[in-house]
Amino acid sequence: MDMVTLGSTGITVNKNGFGALPIQRISQEDAVYLARKAYKAGIRFFDTARAYTDSEVKLGEAFDGIRTKVYIATKTAAQNAEDFWKDLHTSLTNLRTDYIDLYQFHNPAFCPKPGDGSGLYEAMQEAKAKGMIQHIGITNHRLKVAHEAIDSGLYETLQFPFSYISGEQELELVNKCKAANMGFIAMKGLSGGLITNSAAAYAFEAQFDGVLPIWGVQRERELDEFLSYIDNPPRMTDDIRAVIEGDRAELCGEFCRGCGYCMPCPAGIEINNCARMSLLLRRSPSAEHLSPAGQAKMKKIEGCLHCNRCKAKCPYGLDTPALLARNYEDYKRVLAGEVKVQ
Ligand code: SF4
Ligand code: SF4
Repeated sequence: MDMVTLGSTGITVNKNGFGALPIQRISQEDAVYLARKAYKAGIRFFDTARAYTDSEVKLGEAFDGIRTKVYIATKTAAQNAEDFWKDLHTSLTNLRTDYIDLYQFHNPAFCPKPGDGSGLYEAMQEAKAKGMIQHIGITNHRLKVAHEAIDSGLYETLQFPFSYISGEQELELVNKCKAANMGFIAMKGLSGGLITNSAAAYAFEAQFDGVLPIWGVQRERELDEFLSYIDNPPRMTDDIRAVIEGDRAELCGEFCRGCGYCMPCPAGIEINNCARMSLLLRRSPSAEHLSPAGQAKMKKIEGCLHCNRCKAKCPYGLDTPALLARNYEDYKRVLAGEVKVQ
């Protein structure tokens, strides 16, 4: 069994964390069943967020009576101290607990620090002094904020996208966190659906001893795959290396990693998904992407202002507006039935 310690928090858990974003989409009963099954099999770290609608409520029921046996991480996207306290109280109520093990700022556009005028970090410190939270973390999709958080010495964990199709930039963050004795929580280990081989995804993450991947699971068979890795952790064999190299080759060059560094978009386009829609349609179940809600998201591409802000921010040098246009053309062909996907 692979274990991981999240830096100075001392939180030591099995190297499979449970990402509780997708359980928003299933019933309370099914979500409670999944979370309890994960717990019984040995998963101890559960990551949710105030922004994940009823995910906290579902975990609250799942862990009623066994609260002290699990680590719960949640997040606040508050922009000021007043909203911070509202979020924290709501999370505690939803989770049926009087403390959060790891409380994280949820993808803030800046790195909260004492004296920055937002009052956010001071609120974190007060919550910690009161025992309402045990550890302070931050999640982000922006390299600049992530570096600032590590350099500040104010955070015990960083949560950031990290998978085998990530680049050197993410690897640098992993190494920097290790040197700073900060835990690294890897989100999007399956790159939001582009990676379909979970054993390869696991074997990649297993190479980094300070990294805790959190797997977003919604279906029992997805959970079962990761549970099987508790007793039989996949290793970087030649076969797995070949899978990774094949995926990297297929996903090389002009493809969007879904990192979101280019956002927000003034036209409200969800660039991190829309700019890789052709890949998502072909490498993951397409029904959700083709639903009315998915179509509405793609239609926003028509409103692109061609301001090129996204292009300027993309660390992979992509011509993002052109990529969006190409993905939209392909999407319309798929919708019209001119091109078949799975
Ligand atoms: S170029 Fe288009 S997609 Fe990019 S940030 Fe501007 S409006 Fe958004
Ligand atoms: S366009 Fe570039 S910055 Fe934006 S999500 Fe894709 S890879 Fe990331």
